[in-house]
Amino acid sequence: MLSDFSVASGGDTAALVAGLRAYFRSGVTQELNWRRRQLSQLRKMLSENESRFMQALGEDLNKAPQEAYLTEIAFLYSDIDHTLKYLKRWVRSRKVSSPLLAQPASSYIQPEPLGVVLIIGAWNYPLQLLLSPLVPAIAAGNCAVVKPSELAPRVSSLIAELLPRYLDRDAFACVEGAVAETTNLLQQRWDHIMYTGGGRVGRIVMTAAAKHLTPVTLELGGKSPCIVADDADIELAARRIAWGKFTNAGQTCIAPDYVLCTRHTADLLVPAIQQAVTDMFGDNPQQSADYGRIINSQHTLRLADLLGGGEVIYGGEVDAEKCYMAPTLMRAVNLEAPVMQEEIFGPLLPVIELDEFAAVEAFVNQREKPLALYLFTKSDALAERILSSCSSGNACVNDCMMFMLAQDLPFGGVGASGMGCYHGEHGFKTFSHFKAVMKRKNILDINVRYAPYSKRKFRLLKMLQ
Ligand code: NAD
Repeated sequence: MLSDFSVASGGDTAALVAGLRAYFRSGVTQELNWRRRQLSQLRKMLSENESRFMQALGEDLNKAPQEAYLTEIAFLYSDIDHTLKYLKRWVRSRKVSSPLLAQPASSYIQPEPLGVVLIIGAWNYPLQLLLSPLVPAIAAGNCAVVKPSELAPRVSSLIAELLPRYLDRDAFACVEGAVAETTNLLQQRWDHIMYTGGGRVGRIVMTAAAKHLTPVTLELGGKSPCIVADDADIELAARRIAWGKFTNAGQTCIAPDYVLCTRHTADLLVPAIQQAVTDMFGDNPQQSADYGRIINSQHTLRLADLLGGGEVIYGGEVDAEKCYMAPTLMRAVNLEAPVMQEEIFGPLLPVIELDEFAAVEAFVNQREKPLALYLFTKSDALAERILSSCSSGNACVNDCMMFMLAQDLPFGGVGASGMGCYHGEHGFKTFSHFKAVMKRKNILDINVRYAPYSKRKFRLLKMLQ
């Protein structure tokens, strides 16, 4: 039995996992009511501490309360409510047919929990990205260790303080820390690891998991293109792109990374995006309470370096000490420069102009498969063409990021942008094993499968197939 929830370092980690495993084996987490209680408690933890979470998100990322509520807290409420509503249906076994040769029998698929799972979160949505995978892990009946990102320290310590007060301490633990603590956790044997973050660490996670043949879900990032066709509703597209790009100061894994359009469309779109930015954050976004900050000065300097990759036509102001970078637009971009070679993950939007719109698919497909693809057009035929010719983890036509709100849509990457998915029932499936069960009756035992074989048995076998 574990009494200490948040401290696990060095040798303690093995004891922590062993304790969770023993509790898992006791069978408590198999009970539907226990799972429902944990989910309700998680919701209660959020609702009773809403203002503390919003304050912590404000301190770590300067998130405005309304943005923090929409993108982190309300997101989790709807995740939990949806899961509570459908969990009874998801946990049911599903009957399937049995072959003639195996009659009489009943066959079914039985979801079962995986065991003890590890969830590693990222800093950009430090609450949502850690607890949203915990919801299906609980729903599927697992024990779990959550590891918040050390780069969002206020949210991390608040989660570590509150989780043990609300959840079953014998089943769940929060381990705070950075590389050393995560490395320590990764040395343990888990039944599943869900990691959210960059591809470099994703490879470290997968390598560690391979040692124990542990399955992984990797929620990574990449350069998500935003294609704007000549027939798009420019003003609406500009507003939606500006929202998608500059929410959380561009530090969103599914933010549009760059815009792809013709020169003619760029001439119309760029001033429209500038207008949308001014409408949202005023003439000086640094003074807007609604505009976020970069997570730390190191990341701010990394973003400042990217400005050299093209012509800054709007924004570009950087205050590294205050972790500020203005919403920035760039044209005449060098495709070989770092700004087009790595994920931007900040409020810097390059507009790439193509001579012909027909070249968009080749442009996208020459690069790694992105986490999200956005297309603005009024043409259904064009939408179908691009959706079928360009692979991406997720896609949205005529908006950015809104697919995240649909509980029945899976969320996950493909290729370099990740593997596996979650949200709603897809998360329940990720944290479950679907066990194939056949129950035979002890009457009738067709003997065609037993030796000695004969021509008659072979004929019969073929008839029964
Ligand atoms: P990060 O620095 O917070 O790292 C993620 C986690 O990995 C943290 O918990 C951290 O402690 C751990 N970690 C860091 N270095 C490690 C090491 N050497 N060994 C073991 N663990 C280590 O986040 P990040 O990587 O800067 O996140 C940004 C990236 O994450 C972007 O690429 C973004 O697109 C991606 N992302 C993806 C999603 C998604 O849902 N697909 C969501 C958010 C962010």
